[in-house]
Amino acid sequence: MVEEFGAHHRADRVASHIIGAGAAATVAEEPCHWFGTTWLKQAAQHIAFIHPTSIAGRGTGADRWIWGKTQDMADSPRNPHAGAPFTDDDATIAAALEEVSVPALLCSMVHLTGDPSWIRGDIRPQYAMLNDFQSSMPAEMQEEARRLALAAIIDYRDNGCELPPAPGPDLIHEMMSFLAVAPVDDAVVPMFAEDLHLDGADSRAIEWGDEVSADMRADAHVVVIGCGESGLLTGIRLAQAGLPYTIIEKTDGPGGTWRDNRYPGARVDVGSHFYCYSFEPSEHWSEYFVRQSELRSYFERVLEKYEVGANCRFNAEVVAATWNEATGRWSVEVRGADGSVDTIDARVVISATGALNAPKLPDIDGIETFAGPAFHSARWDDSIDLSGKRVAQIGAGASGFQLAPAIADEVEHLSIFQRTPQWMFPNMNYHRAVPEGDAWAMRHLPFYTRWFRFLMFYPAAGLSIENSRVDPNFDDSDGMAISEMNSMTRAWFGDWITSQLADRPDLLELSMPHYPPTAKRTLQDNGSWLTCLKKPNVELVRTGITRIVPEGVVTDDGVLHEADVICFATGFRHNDFLWPMTITGRGGVTLREQWGEEPEALLGISVPNFPNLFCVYGPGTNLAHGASLIFQSECQVNYIMSAIHELLAGGHRSMVPTAEAFDAYTSRYRSEIAQMVWAHWSVKHSHFKNSDGRIFTISPWPIPTYWGWTRAVDPAQYEFD
Ligand code: NAP
Repeated sequence: MVEEFGAHHRADRVASHIIGAGAAATVAEEPCHWFGTTWLKQAAQHIAFIHPTSIAGRGTGADRWIWGKTQDMADSPRNPHAGAPFTDDDATIAAALEEVSVPALLCSMVHLTGDPSWIRGDIRPQYAMLNDFQSSMPAEMQEEARRLALAAIIDYRDNGCELPPAPGPDLIHEMMSFLAVAPVDDAVVPMFAEDLHLDGADSRAIEWGDEVSADMRADAHVVVIGCGESGLLTGIRLAQAGLPYTIIEKTDGPGGTWRDNRYPGARVDVGSHFYCYSFEPSEHWSEYFVRQSELRSYFERVLEKYEVGANCRFNAEVVAATWNEATGRWSVEVRGADGSVDTIDARVVISATGALNAPKLPDIDGIETFAGPAFHSARWDDSIDLSGKRVAQIGAGASGFQLAPAIADEVEHLSIFQRTPQWMFPNMNYHRAVPEGDAWAMRHLPFYTRWFRFLMFYPAAGLSIENSRVDPNFDDSDGMAISEMNSMTRAWFGDWITSQLADRPDLLELSMPHYPPTAKRTLQDNGSWLTCLKKPNVELVRTGITRIVPEGVVTDDGVLHEADVICFATGFRHNDFLWPMTITGRGGVTLREQWGEEPEALLGISVPNFPNLFCVYGPGTNLAHGASLIFQSECQVNYIMSAIHELLAGGHRSMVPTAEAFDAYTSRYRSEIAQMVWAHWSVKHSHFKNSDGRIFTISPWPIPTYWGWTRAVDPAQYEFD
């Protein structure tokens, strides 16, 4: 197989380069059970493997890496991750085990028995691969693991589901390395430990003491703009700090993007057991990548549980915020549903508006002349029945990719206008429901769901971000790849597209991208997109659009594509942070004037001239290389809370980043991002880029590096007054 692709020696070399000689030695020559060939598996590591990376950040070390002393003590509440005790019969348990992730099960067995030998034998995961829940473990190995686990679980049940003492830090580290199929660097262990919460406690919960008096807190009203995942999280943390706060949200409830994007087929494409708050249970998801409505309900439940709703003003929009230098406070203008504007006083303003929330309609001639309904994917019109209609879908990025397969069978005809084909990789779990057996394990097996989360997080931890860097010694003049590894990824992704469209050379030609893989946001496919293109009532149009007319869409070849409905899946104004509100800082400067097309902030969070203003998901912090935005928000809100603590406990009026700190950070940012695949010249259109083709939207930092930087504010980087 390897020779067939002529890449054997090359793949070996790449694997050694990525994972180190020792780990490379563990890459077996047998076929990878998930992707079919050894070399494809190695190429897959481009986006999904692990590379020990040192943390350059200013963390507080392992001091906050606190281990629970017990996992199940009679005199204290049961650890929420210990699983609910059960009395199910042997057959039920055996049936459940057929559907679990065996690597995560083995870690659970260590907790359940107190015996580390579960992870020290020959039964072990083979490759840590994104979204491969069995980590390429051979079927016989899985079967043996299930057989052994069944006996242990029956004993545990018969003993009343009492757990032995919790594994200590060294054993937990060993379990991480077991699932990673490579030694996990000491430096990144605390990041994963913080996310795992094995002691059952919220590791980032705010616990301020007397250093911030009740009076100070009462005077420190905080306005949060937006109640998506990050605004809601901010509310939870502000409440823990005992600060008065108001969240202004323009829609009628929480959820942000997961409230706005109701288009058919909308679902998350980061594993649900990882794409959720680290401090909330995650065993309840019905699918491995849940749909929008389930996420929306999740955020509604969290809002209720943490009683954040009382501090929210829904159906209200921030139109302006102005810094008053004399008082050291913000005046925030809020427009209510009835159009009236009132002003709220705030000591601190936190922007949690998201970066992909302002729909971007294309600049196409005649767009306003279309006779039928026309709307953006993020403003889905539920009143329209698509059955029997001719639908034109303009745009086929992440949203369009989900939309078309979901409506194709309902509509009479679907014309998909795709300007640039998208790279995608196979994910067979993408539309999969969590089977009853796995759901049982998540409810009952100690810490199983936490280790399942780690299985999602680790390969997506952005540790191999170096693979996203353009290799200056690689010939990229054809614009197809940026490095040898990237060209192997190209072959892997291309192989998936070819395998689906081999019988349709016309579609294959239209669907194969001509830019480096991962240079735009990489999509995931379980066959639904490419199968959709082959349906008899679906047409993929790659010819440019000349204009829109009342009857439909006219392309550059003069063809009129008749349509009854147009849906614009054309993305968002990603470069326009905090748009369209007017934020005015020191000296009357507005954010829009200061930023122009180059929005920048220290760590993506704080901006010179804008005291006591902090951004979550601000400039340069979107992720194209791993983790999840909820993880990213937890890091940023952690930092912001530390900054507010510094402000209040220090008795200061205001804080802004120093020019030195800001310049040092932004020049490093500009230099890094310019070297990355996303900035490559071959990418003609991308929402990551501004109109000059430069990037100020996404992060070039390894996830652990940014985590380290955001563990606590560095007062030396700020000017206080
Ligand atoms: P997008 O990725 O920016 O895609 C927009 C699409 O519209 C592209 O196909 C683009 O073509 C096309 N387009 C834009 N302007 C056009 C024009 N003037 N003429 C013709 N075509 C035009 O937007 P999106 O699909 O809404 O996704 C945006 C981001 O939202 C994603 O990157 C992701 O971060 C997030 N998202 C996530 C999920 C998920 O988790 N499952 C789902 C949806 C969205 P070009 O490619 O040529 O620019």
